[in-house]
Amino acid sequence: MTDKILTTCIYCGTGCNLYLKVREGKVVGVLPSNGGAGQGKLCIKGWSAHEFVHHPERLRKPLIREEKDSEFKETNWENALESVAHNLSRIRQKEGSQALGFFSSAKCTNEENYLMQKFARAVIKTNNIDHCARLCHASTVAGLASTFGSGAMTNSIDEIEDTEVIVVIGSNTTEQHPLIARRILRAVREKGARLIVADPRRIDLTGFASVHLQLRPGTNIALLNGMIQVILKENLYNHEFIQQRTEGFESLREMVDHYPPDKVEKVTGVPAEKIREAALLYAEAKRASIIYCMGITQHTSGTHNVIAAANLAMVTGNVGKPSSGVNPLRGQNNVQGACDMGALPNVFSGYQKVSDTQARKKMESAWGVSGLNYQPGLTLTEMIESAYENNLKALYIMGENPLVSEPDINHVRDALQKVEFLVVQDIFLSETAKLADVVLPAVSFAEKDGTFTSTDRTIQRIRKAVEPIGESREDWRIIGEISKIMGYHGLTYNSPEEIMNEIAKVTPSYGGITYERLEKIGIPWPCPTKDHPGTPYLHRDQFARGKGLFFPVEYTSPAEQPDENYPFILTTGRVLFHFHTGTMTRRSPTLTTQISEGYVEINPDDAMKLGVNQGELVTISSRRGQITTKVFITEIIPPGTVFIPFHFAESAANTLTNGRALDPIAKIPELKVSAVQIKKSCVNN
Ligand code: SF4
Repeated sequence: MTDKILTTCIYCGTGCNLYLKVREGKVVGVLPSNGGAGQGKLCIKGWSAHEFVHHPERLRKPLIREEKDSEFKETNWENALESVAHNLSRIRQKEGSQALGFFSSAKCTNEENYLMQKFARAVIKTNNIDHCARLCHASTVAGLASTFGSGAMTNSIDEIEDTEVIVVIGSNTTEQHPLIARRILRAVREKGARLIVADPRRIDLTGFASVHLQLRPGTNIALLNGMIQVILKENLYNHEFIQQRTEGFESLREMVDHYPPDKVEKVTGVPAEKIREAALLYAEAKRASIIYCMGITQHTSGTHNVIAAANLAMVTGNVGKPSSGVNPLRGQNNVQGACDMGALPNVFSGYQKVSDTQARKKMESAWGVSGLNYQPGLTLTEMIESAYENNLKALYIMGENPLVSEPDINHVRDALQKVEFLVVQDIFLSETAKLADVVLPAVSFAEKDGTFTSTDRTIQRIRKAVEPIGESREDWRIIGEISKIMGYHGLTYNSPEEIMNEIAKVTPSYGGITYERLEKIGIPWPCPTKDHPGTPYLHRDQFARGKGLFFPVEYTSPAEQPDENYPFILTTGRVLFHFHTGTMTRRSPTLTTQISEGYVEINPDDAMKLGVNQGELVTISSRRGQITTKVFITEIIPPGTVFIPFHFAESAANTLTNGRALDPIAKIPELKVSAVQIKKSCVNN
């Protein structure tokens, strides 16, 4: 007898629904569901989403070290939880609340992220809580919040197919969000939409594009300003929208005057005629959408890149109506939800500022505590620095693997080794967990109930299909138990549904969410009341901040430029078959059969100059470290630029990336541009 349990995919933020097939207490397969963004389809990752669940390397018991550098020993839950509670209390007492930090997780549920930030704030009294959104879309949250008043995808995935012109910038959508790419391609092939792709690489989508803007990495602002300049010059801007719905237009007009296409060509490498063509195509459409991803966010100019995209949309009045807008694609299943839940250092759930007295009073009353900290805490990148400088003494990491995902890994390793007490809660012994003092075994998405919020703000259920593996426990239970030992009982719940009921009470945009409603269908926030249907597209009558703000942003070059010693630009990204740091996908036989190891894409001209052949090993060095990996010679990549996927720990791209060059507003590192040198490895000889 096989049961089918409806749930939501654990991988990218598209939020496809699927059934887990369960036989004799084991997840044995997956079937697509007609609900959700996938519309009855799954990509290969979705079809393989069950394969890691019963993997023999799953953590089954808590692990503990009796002393630093000693071997791990299995222990029971009582010991492990006592140790965590005791050490967190001890360090808080000795060093103060700000000496502790918390990494929450975009892989965990909304309920678990809500609890992690509640634990940090209500029990420890610190706002040092963050998660991997800092490394992908912190610039989206900052950029769209300042221009529109809300840092999320403006329109729904369902609306893509009715768009006339789609601009995809900095998103290799077919690899990273395959079922969203399917919608884009249906719009192009079946409904006649025109596609503009802005990307340094000749990614698959360029084969369907009317225009490919092959810009140099890190020159997005110049390109977007150049398009706006053309639109203004040709008088194709939306006068009525600008006048009635926005402010600050004149300062934008003045600034973009300095970005004529011929000047922009020199900066971006994109021919002036193509910039004009793209600008006219976009401006003349009735419904035009900008879709973007980490290709524009992971830069020192990440926030300004997002603002430049928002300026372009507002100039043409392409916000606040269906099939338009500015649409960041969030990479992980619940990175949108982790942000919504306040797993960020400056806001509670629903983006209510910790510095706001009313918001703090509301939370204090709901949580039964006093003295919540009003100062924004450290970001994830700042916590690493603080640990390196011996200020952050304890770090609690739930479901994150910074030793692969963070830039400048050697530095991150040094920082984590300096932390007096490191606790990691995960489903596998990740690279980061290997450094921990205590490892707490958590359960996978197949073993728990909860909700994920997809990239288009749709809140959807995940459902328990099988019992926890070994002695592993749900993250929400673990946090509650540690809290109880530390003397706070306000984190004890009977079920994730009870947690969601509390979230709805304190979070206006989730106010109308109940498990009963989610039984039938996912609901996009804002959903303020129980009779509200949810909001597929934002800013309909007015922007969340009132008027949309034009914010002129100038082009600035990336922190590192190629030079004599480091003559190539390295850019990093993802591949279809793997997810984030590979902890789950690299344990999936189907996915590892496709790609099992890292590689570097090199243009044939560069390969010839370097004297390397397909499949040979090269050593790649930056100012921060070096890796050895295989060469993949391809014309996808332009000469002078190389690409490495970041999933593979043994040839980790982030050994090379620049962790110290941060966007000054969002503190996101410049993962997309690093200067490197490449040498044929002596191992080949
Ligand atoms: Fe899962 Fe994303 Fe693939 Fe959908 S597109 S099946 S959510 S990985």
